[in-house]
Amino acid sequence: MFRNRKIVLDSRPIDKVSPGNFRLVEDTLPAPGPGQVVVRHHYLSLDPYMRGRMSDAKSYAAPQPLGETMIGGTVGEVVASENPRFAPGDFVVGMGGWQLYGSSDGRGLNKVDVKAIPLQAYLGPLGMPGVTAWWGLNTIIAPKAGETVLVTAATGAVGSVVGQLAKLAGARAIGVAGGPEKCIYATEELGYDACVDHKSARFAEELKAAAGKGIDGVFENVGGEPFLQALRRLNDFARIAVCGLIASYEGPTTPLPDMRIFLVRRIKVEGFIVSDHLDAWPRAIGELAGHAAAGRLRWRETVRQGLDSAPQAFIDLLHGGNFGKMLVKMI
Ligand code: NDP
Repeated sequence: MFRNRKIVLDSRPIDKVSPGNFRLVEDTLPAPGPGQVVVRHHYLSLDPYMRGRMSDAKSYAAPQPLGETMIGGTVGEVVASENPRFAPGDFVVGMGGWQLYGSSDGRGLNKVDVKAIPLQAYLGPLGMPGVTAWWGLNTIIAPKAGETVLVTAATGAVGSVVGQLAKLAGARAIGVAGGPEKCIYATEELGYDACVDHKSARFAEELKAAAGKGIDGVFENVGGEPFLQALRRLNDFARIAVCGLIASYEGPTTPLPDMRIFLVRRIKVEGFIVSDHLDAWPRAIGELAGHAAAGRLRWRETVRQGLDSAPQAFIDLLHGGNFGKMLVKMI
């Protein structure tokens, strides 16, 4: 028996998410039955997609049911197993949700190697956000050496990997981030050639200067005014990977641009959802792990302590309060 604590979705947000939308539940988890495995979660990943699941508006995935444990990626250690694929002491990544322990039949649970890579990296650069960066950059933007790629939310879980992969492909990388501290980190640690602060009153001029001869690829994580400004700097045949529109998850809808720019500059715009491309994950994670092991991939985390901190940490993530991958340490 395991004493479990979990956070369930108690109500759907009317406008913005509040701590009152969540409820803490305590119960016990029985020892695993035949084929089952119990995992003690060490880290919970907080990700913007969870905002969409809290709503019952039509989207690419079904809404999170009320009263059920919040969906979420987790890494942890197997503590009991009646499944031949797993043994106590194995470290695993899966979708264990906002709770201390997860019990499953092992489907969707994958063992990870923690000898050279920290466990929680499998929720960040070597996990879903890293694969998102890899897919959007390599298959939609496909930068050629010498081209310029613009990345919004440039220091975040996805954006930080996009910028570094763009540099490894020989492109020029320009970041957009919120505030001088994030911009300094973008250029000095992540290797961006330039970073523009979207909070600056001179954003449009600064973006124009950073864009130099123009932008060939946009990895869009945010939407809103910076995106409209970026469109003005596009070169002919530029590619836009629409990955996320976080500015509108709790705010006004992203304004639509004048479509003329797409025609006269012959722009490709493609939205994508990383879970549509599960067959690409092993290759992407393999490449990302190779970069990490060789010291070519850097990342940063914001770590909150304890399951109880998850609701506020999630709210902070939705409003730019994270610096790198947002995690909750649960042990
Ligand atoms: P991040 O770690 O990048 O955190 C979100 C960041 O967004 C904030 O830190 C903030 O950075 C930035 N931001 C800019 N403007 C706003 C705004 N108006 N309100 C709130 N935040 C803002 O998150 P992820 O890397 O996990 O996700 C980045 C994007 O990728 C999200 O849009 C997400 O939905 C999307 N995504 C899409 C996937 C897909 O399959 N298509 C899969 C995974 C993620 P700053 O302070 O620098 O502005």
